[in-house]
Amino acid sequence: MLITDLKCSGCGSMLTRGGLKYVIEIKSFADFDGYLEEYPGEIEDGINELLDSMENMETEELEEEVFQELVFILCKSCREKFVDDPFNRRHALEEEDVVSRGMLH
Ligand SMILES: [Zn+2]
Repeated sequence: MLITDLKCSGCGSMLTRGGLKYVIEIKSFADFDGYLEEYPGEIEDGINELLDSMENMETEELEEEVFQELVFILCKSCREKFVDDPFNRRHALEEEDVVSRGMLH
């Protein structure tokens, strides 16, 4: 695959060919801890019900439900920001802070 113009997924700035860039791969998959919720009634009924509801789902939707892989390409500064605070929690906390401070006035 030849990539001619690559943009940073974070800030949208152009990434030059051969320049410094970072690939962020995010894999998210359903975790099964071996615990089955107690099902009222026959477990087989429960499984059949689950299979029925899965049949009604689009295959793609079902796959996304179980496994999703996201790939981002970031420039150096976006990568640093991402690694430092992947879920932007600091930003959320700051906003909370502003709200609570605002209430004091
Ligand atoms: Zn960037």
